Amino acid sequence: MSESLSQDRIVELQQLLNQYNHQYYVLDQPTVPDVEYDRLMRELIDLESKFPLLKTADSPSQRVGGEALKEFSQVTHQLPMLSLDNVFSAQEWQGFVTRISDRLKSASTIQFCAEPKLDGLAVSIRYENGVFVQAATRGDGRVGENITENVRTIKSIPLKLQGTDYPDVIEVRGEVFMPKASFDKLNAAAIAKNEKVFANPRNAAAGSLRQLDSKITAKRNLAFYAYGLGYVEHQQNVEKGEQWLANSHYQRLCQLKSLGLPMCPEVRLLENADLVEAFYQDILAKRDQLTYEIDGTVFKVDDIALQQELGFVAKAPRWATAYKFPAQEELTLLKDVEFQV
Ligand code: NAD
Repeated sequence: MSESLSQDRIVELQQLLNQYNHQYYVLDQPTVPDVEYDRLMRELIDLESKFPLLKTADSPSQRVGGEALKEFSQVTHQLPMLSLDNVFSAQEWQGFVTRISDRLKSASTIQFCAEPKLDGLAVSIRYENGVFVQAATRGDGRVGENITENVRTIKSIPLKLQGTDYPDVIEVRGEVFMPKASFDKLNAAAIAKNEKVFANPRNAAAGSLRQLDSKITAKRNLAFYAYGLGYVEHQQNVEKGEQWLANSHYQRLCQLKSLGLPMCPEVRLLENADLVEAFYQDILAKRDQLTYEIDGTVFKVDDIALQQELGFVAKAPRWATAYKFPAQEELTLLKDVEFQV
């Protein structure tokens, strides 16, 4: 394709993806299935890599999520909440391994924390002196929505951390999701009342969490799994704070679990990259039996020092990737369903 045709196509793709982002992240009303969105995003990324001068800083390929809804007060994240890069095949996974191995010449083997990719909404929950004080959505990664009162209604999230050994400030990052059984019940009730149904559990979780009335959220049976950390501070004793944090991502998740935060039971520490495919296949085979919806797996370099060495690109860490499942939904499905937010 010539440069001028590519430029037209890039502009067209940017506009289309910006529109889909707004419908998905801000209105909670997607109009195309994820597989179609992912296909267009890949086309954009490919074209932008062939013509780097046409890649603008505000391109959807460079930005996380959508802007925060004005109905909620805003929370500026002390550490940004990023997205994840994707691979879709064993071959692309190998490409990821080659890229990070090239950057980590000194590491002989790389361990990975292997996790299901939960299909819900990213939230950051802040504890001060062990007490739940704030919860926010990811928003555009820098500024999210203050959804403290809604997250407070999620029963599995502790309002006070267990024990006494934790940093003064700790931000727990994880996914709020709607278990499949709650989703089915909610939609069955909507159908019985001749009301609109939710397109999928992710959409239902997002709509339930961004309610202005937390009493509605409380009735929606949402759940949460922690998958990482944001800002951590130990004012009283900085040294102790630094020691508190394990230098393994997997161990950090176990630390969060010991403080009472729910951790997905499928999470595993893998000794090397060769074990990744088996984990992916195992979770794919279990997908229908899981009580919550997932759309793939996530693999994260486990060693925090190696994570720091790898760093970040515009909207995602270089040390992690989602390894997504083949798509289940069809375009026609989304066209036929009347959505609720
Ligand atoms: P993403 O969903 O591909 O990956 C990042 C997110 O994964 C994180 O923010 C977090 O919420 C979640 N996650 C789940 N399990 C995790 C784990 N174990 N560790 C870390 N994170 C975990 O990226 P995104 O930027 O949130 O969304 C992009 C995707 O959303 C697209 O690939 C597409 O599938 C979908 N989308 C669809 C439309 C549409 O119109 N259909 C529009 C925008 C986005």
